[in-house]
Amino acid sequence: MKNITVQDIVQATGGRLLCGSPDLLIRNISIDSRTMKGDDIFVPIIGAKVDAHRFIGGAFQAGAAATFTSEHDEMEDTHPWIRVEDTVKALQDLGAFCRNRLTMPIIGVTGSVGKTSTREMVACALSAEKKVYSTTGNSNGQLGVPITLSEADPDADVIVLEMGMSEPGEMSRISAVARVSMGVVTNIGVSHIENLGSRENIRKEKMHMADYLSPDQVMVLNGEDDQLEVYRKGAPFRVVYYGLSENNDYWAENIRVTDGRTYFTVHAGEETFEMQLPQLGQHHVMNALAALAVAAENEVSPVKAAKALESWHGFARRLEISEKNGCTIIDDSYNASPDSMRAALQVLSVTETAGRRIAVLADMLELGPDSPKYHSEVGAYAASCGTDRIFTIGTLARYLAEAAKAQGVEVSCYDSNAEALEDILAFRKPGDTILLKGSNSMKLSEIVKEL
Ligand code: ATP
Ligand code: MG
Repeated sequence: MKNITVQDIVQATGGRLLCGSPDLLIRNISIDSRTMKGDDIFVPIIGAKVDAHRFIGGAFQAGAAATFTSEHDEMEDTHPWIRVEDTVKALQDLGAFCRNRLTMPIIGVTGSVGKTSTREMVACALSAEKKVYSTTGNSNGQLGVPITLSEADPDADVIVLEMGMSEPGEMSRISAVARVSMGVVTNIGVSHIENLGSRENIRKEKMHMADYLSPDQVMVLNGEDDQLEVYRKGAPFRVVYYGLSENNDYWAENIRVTDGRTYFTVHAGEETFEMQLPQLGQHHVMNALAALAVAAENEVSPVKAAKALESWHGFARRLEISEKNGCTIIDDSYNASPDSMRAALQVLSVTETAGRRIAVLADMLELGPDSPKYHSEVGAYAASCGTDRIFTIGTLARYLAEAAKAQGVEVSCYDSNAEALEDILAFRKPGDTILLKGSNSMKLSEIVKEL
């Protein structure tokens, strides 16, 4: 944030200054009392377990310049304290204030899976001809989006924001803060269906991203997703589809995987060209198409954007491929949902291997009452794509194991990573390819480390 005073913040948030100077300059926002970036305003968040108001003292010790509070009505201090009703709302109001000072296009990326991958690919594609500022890490929610907007480089040509939601109402709130000028939706899956009830509700919630688009502004949508089909007719914004058939504005065909790279033919409007990615998997082809579409819609040549994507580095623990003790390890332990599990199993099935295709699969969490069904479906899918051996960890993953076993795959089930590791180490042989995937809190990286 540049040239924002305490008084500006008071006005932006409708707060009341309890003490301290209104003229003090604030440059950063922090929600963590231990890490200040310099001239920060601290935002104490009241969480389910902890009320961060008790860390205000610590925040000042760590160098905070000012703080919000929703718990004090008066204060005497040299530091500015700003009284607001709700500190999360104040953070969002401040994010909206920062957003209003930005004049470049702002592109939002949402979807059930593939947000971070697609956001990075969009940023990479645009950077072929533009100066891009994009979300870092995974800060995509109602706290992360306003902070990203406050940190955005005002000299960037374009901003790429990852936007996620886990509960009803969240996308409307962050959409009002970000007011994107273009949106991307990667897919409508079942992540967080526990809180939202149905895929249709998830679609409606995610599409709040388009609330502030004018009729000539664009949503870039996955044309292979049945939920997103509804916008083919009569949407209140312009729609650009990407997919794997000529039914889409940007599409790919002829997808081949050789020597750890994916090769395909791209059709982008009038242009047709060959392209390759250093990542595996059809889903990355889809993410790349989304990136090419955004690039073209922002006057970046798709051919130049494709060249930039050819050296995109990918991400740690998201289908990260390495060699360990003669085995090929596909580490996808970052997180798991049914869609990304299927995508990973598909990658395992097309990876050339001298040995067996082994999948170490742990629970997929937060899928609600239909969790057993989703696990069974993935188990059947794993069997259908030729997985030779499955190790599962966790109680839900037992459903996955049962379904795979019913199709003739040899399976073993465990309750802990330590137990599973012992048997995996005894089972693996040089030449095998081993995929590891599960929800982040299942900590499969503990196993990856020991392989
Ligand atoms: P989060 O909700 O944690 O922010 P995300 O939506 O940002 O997740 P990524 O981190 O990009 O998603 O990817 C999560 C997982 O999904 C990884 O295993 C990745 O390989 C896989 N994945 C990426 N893109 C797709 C896609 N288009 N379809 C299915 N799976 C995908
Ligand atoms: Mg993400």
